[in-house]
Amino acid sequence: MTCKEAEQMVMPYINKELTDKELSAFLSHIHTCRDCYEELEIYYTIYTGLAQLEEGGEDQNLHRLLEESLRLSELQIRGRKIFNVYYVLSQILAMAALTVIIIMEIVII
Ligand SMILES: [Zn+2]
Repeated sequence: MTCKEAEQMVMPYINKELTDKELSAFLSHIHTCRDCYEELEIYYTIYTGLAQLEEGGEDQNLHRLLEESLRLSELQIRGRKIFNVYYVLSQILAMAALTVIIIMEIVII
């Protein structure tokens, strides 16, 4: 991913509009590119800060919030990947069980 592509994903990231694939590519770029991380931090601080002002919420450490948000996004992606692996495995197991049942019925008959 180029810096230009990453910059275009900053707002969709903050608005949680990225797909898993985009999110994954965006996060790995953010981790390796200082410039884009700073860009994200600026936007995140502005938008989250504004939202907090509107909600009248307590003053939070926005840098910490961004770190937390990035960590959650990674967990979200990892969680879905693990879920997908289990889903595929359960499908394979179901097929295997079905095959065994069919074979047993044939053998018994
Ligand atoms: Zn970059």
